[in-house]
Amino acid sequence: MNLNPNRALEVNNIEYEDKKRLLHAIQLSKQCIPVKNAFSVGAVIFDAAGDMVSTGYSREEGDRSHAEEVALNRAQQKGINVEGGIMYSSMEPCGERSSSDKTCTVRIIESGIIKVVFALHEPHIFVYPANLDRFSNAGIQLVHIPELEPDVKEINKHLIRS
Ligand SMILES: [Zn+2]
Repeated sequence: MNLNPNRALEVNNIEYEDKKRLLHAIQLSKQCIPVKNAFSVGAVIFDAAGDMVSTGYSREEGDRSHAEEVALNRAQQKGINVEGGIMYSSMEPCGERSSSDKTCTVRIIESGIIKVVFALHEPHIFVYPANLDRFSNAGIQLVHIPELEPDVKEINKHLIRS
């Protein structure tokens, strides 16, 4: 067992930082125009150096745009390399889409992001996501922070029955 107190402190700081950044993503999702056929999601990307480089929320760039996709597109447009970075999304990134666009899971894996932090597993209302294995298979660390689930559910209460 590792009892080094400095190590424990470091882990706690990472957890604290992840939660704070995820809360920011959740705050962003409040800007989404609520619709009946898609969730309201917010996303924030931090680069490998630890700087926030991009944000996005559902339908920010067109009716079908997803939060993670918007954030990735924006980083790309600004010429920012997100390799080694972290994606914070209020909801688990999609693994299937009703449109022909690439899923956020594929986009994240292709981007070189190494960690995904989210609050709520996607409720199986529109498509069946269940693809979290794909992140692990790609060597991407997944962090679920269930403590913040209620905030995301509240923002999506028009879709989720509690
Ligand atoms: Zn998506």
